[in-house]
Amino acid sequence: MKYSIMFHHFHDDHKYPEVQGGGSISSDDFHLIIDYLDENFSLLAPDEYLKKVEHGSIQEGDVCLTFDDALKCQFDVIYPELEKRNLKAFFFVYSAAFSDNPPPLEFFRDFRLNFFNNVNEYYDLFFNAVRRLYPQQYNVFLNDYQTDYLSAFPFYTENDKKYRFIRDKVLKEKYFDLVFEMMKEKKYSQLQRKEKLFMSVDEIKTLHDSGHTIGLHSHSHPTQIHNLDYSSQLEEYTKNYKFISSITKRKINVMSHPCGNYNDDTLKVLKELGIKFGFRSSLTPSYIMSSLEIPREDHANVMNSINF
Ligand SMILES: [Zn+2]
Repeated sequence: MKYSIMFHHFHDDHKYPEVQGGGSISSDDFHLIIDYLDENFSLLAPDEYLKKVEHGSIQEGDVCLTFDDALKCQFDVIYPELEKRNLKAFFFVYSAAFSDNPPPLEFFRDFRLNFFNNVNEYYDLFFNAVRRLYPQQYNVFLNDYQTDYLSAFPFYTENDKKYRFIRDKVLKEKYFDLVFEMMKEKKYSQLQRKEKLFMSVDEIKTLHDSGHTIGLHSHSHPTQIHNLDYSSQLEEYTKNYKFISSITKRKINVMSHPCGNYNDDTLKVLKELGIKFGFRSSLTPSYIMSSLEIPREDHANVMNSINF
C-alpha cells in the first residue's frame, strides 16, 4: 500500500557524483520507478491527489510524487525528466536554506560524503578531532563505550557504532561545533557549497510556473520540531509561509513534516495558517490518519520492491 513517494537526493554522471552511503538515485532509476508506478498504481498530479484526499475518495493505488528540501540536484537532474513525461509533483521547501545562515544538516551530509574518499576516512578525522579538541569527552567514550552498543542493528560497522555513540551520547550539542571545526580544517566553505546544494529562488519560481506545487517544510528544518513549543512552531511555519507565498504569489495549502516529526501543536499551527494537507515521512502507520498526516514511502524502498 502506497500513498505517495518521497524523494531526496539524485546523482548523475558529472555534477552530482554517486557516493556510497549517499542514498541517492539516478535519472534512470527515477524512470524505472515511474514506469513501475504507471504499471501498478494510479499516478496523480498534486491538485487531483489533494482533491481526492479532501473528498475521502483516495484509493489504495493512488500515488503522487513529492520532493523535499529544495535540493539543487532535484532541479538539475529530475525536473527535466518530469517535464519530458509531463508529470507534476510536490516540492516542499524550508526557507532557511535561502537565508544567510542555512541550517547545517545538508552541509554536514555534503562534507561527509564528498570531501573524503570513504566514510572511514571521515570517521578517522572525526575520532582524531574529538581526541584533540574534546579530550575529556574522548575519555568518557573510552570508559563508557560497550561493544554491544546498537547491536540490534547488525548492518552498522564498528566505526558506525562508535561514531553514533560519541555523537549522540557523549558530544550531544557539542557535535555541531566539532564538525564545524573539522570543516574549517578541511577548508570547506558553506558559502561556496550552498549554491551547489540548494535551488535558487528563481528555480523555485520556475517549478511553480511550470505547474508543480510548492509547499511548506518549516523555516529552519528542526529535526525534532515536536519538541518546540507552540509559539516557536507558529514562527517556523509563518516565516516559511511568507517566504514561499512571496515567490508563488499564491495561498499555500500543503506541507510535509520535516523528518516526519510533529505533534498536536504542529497540527494546530498548520490549521491556523490554512494548511489542509500534510505528508509524513514513513508508512508507519500506513493509512491516512488525517489530511495533515498522509503517509509516504521513501524512494529507496520503492527501488527495492522493483528489484525483487
Ligand atoms: Zn526535509
